Amino acid sequence: MDLRLYDTLTREKRSFVPLDPKNVRMYVCGPTVYDFAHIGNARPVIVFDVLFRLLRHLYGADHVTYVRNITDVDDKINERAARDFPRLPLNEAIRKVTEQTAAQFGSDAAALGSLTPTFEPRATDFVLPRADGKADMITLIQQLIARGHAYEAGGEVLFDVRSMPDYGALSGRKLKEQRPGARVAVDAHKRSPLDFVLWKQSSGDEPGWESPWGRGRPGWHIECSAMSAAYLGDVFDIHGGGIDLIFPHHENEIAQSRCAHGTSAMANYWMHNEFLQIEDAKMSKSLGNFVTIRDLLADWPGEVLRLNMLKAHYRSPMDWTLKGLEESAKTLDDWYWVAADLKGEKASDAVIDALSDDLNTPQMIATLHALRNSAASGNERDRSQFAASLRLVGFLSESAEEWKGRKQQASGIDTKQVDMLISDRAAARARKDFKESDRIRDELAAMGVVIKDSKEGTTWEIAR
Ligand SMILES: [Zn+2]
Repeated sequence: MDLRLYDTLTREKRSFVPLDPKNVRMYVCGPTVYDFAHIGNARPVIVFDVLFRLLRHLYGADHVTYVRNITDVDDKINERAARDFPRLPLNEAIRKVTEQTAAQFGSDAAALGSLTPTFEPRATDFVLPRADGKADMITLIQQLIARGHAYEAGGEVLFDVRSMPDYGALSGRKLKEQRPGARVAVDAHKRSPLDFVLWKQSSGDEPGWESPWGRGRPGWHIECSAMSAAYLGDVFDIHGGGIDLIFPHHENEIAQSRCAHGTSAMANYWMHNEFLQIEDAKMSKSLGNFVTIRDLLADWPGEVLRLNMLKAHYRSPMDWTLKGLEESAKTLDDWYWVAADLKGEKASDAVIDALSDDLNTPQMIATLHALRNSAASGNERDRSQFAASLRLVGFLSESAEEWKGRKQQASGIDTKQVDMLISDRAAARARKDFKESDRIRDELAAMGVVIKDSKEGTTWEIAR
């Protein structure tokens, strides 16, 4: 089956045709590094990792370039740096905050089973013109001014949205409908209220770079236009991110990139994952249900979070619940039991087909359940495909022993003792001493261990 992807810009699911099948290029907006990432931030990390893995499967691992940036210049970072390291000079404090937070994010993403992107550029490395000639923000802004798409006013450089007749196509906001002053007070120095900042002046205690417009710092949107061009060229295949980035961030990236480069597109497919909410409520710090990836990783293996995330299609809103996590953990215990000892040769066509249909992960999981049942009933070909499919999409990264051991660690259960009790119980059953076998079962239950008897023998799991 052809790969088909839903494109937010054209609002249709289309066959994916890469510009160059030898180098399929994808850009996804990464984190602003000032604090631990919350579980909502894990959704694009996991979703676009699955797409990265699928593209590598379809085009070859060496023929896909995936760029996920790190935004390390932002006013929220400045505030955090001043708060956490009041005695350090601001630049040093900022570096500490951004390096720590970027490292935390990287290890969270890895724990979620995500491959490292091909490039993870940091915005601050792309502000000034570079020795290697890669695209940078100052040169992009100069190009926009030279082509009549940007102007200096009030100490800022602003993008002139009226210079781009089809501005607003991604979000469906028509310029004509945006009456100046209708909803937003018009800043006196702006030609249109939608004009956005490319460059702004920095005061002495704010981070800044010398530019043709004085010492200042870039606006957020221009970062991604520079870093995507630096690694992927003026036009590339896929641009992704959370649905909250459609406007203004992605709309403005498109405006900057197309107008600076004189192209009719920035990326050919725009993909956006939907929101995540927690136990039916919007996540917010004030509601006290703001859950970080780090919090969840303290209680659950990353693969459980990953499977739980993939149960919803990326274009559907998702409700993140404890019940869902418990079910996902049970499922993975079972999958590890059936397939962890096996590398597997070839992923199942049905799994690839499900993913090729705009990353239909619920369908993929249904297919995996069917394969699991066939595998458990003795079909070795399906067991091999089951294992290979799970590995392809980022599961079974541990051995069965490691998986069990981690659960034991989390629960404080001594697996050796459990195994001993289980063999004592088997011996009691063999001599038909059911009183003793029941007693051992109760002892295991008191330890929080549930046992399951089947033809293949007795397995156990930790009661949740
Ligand atoms: Zn971006």
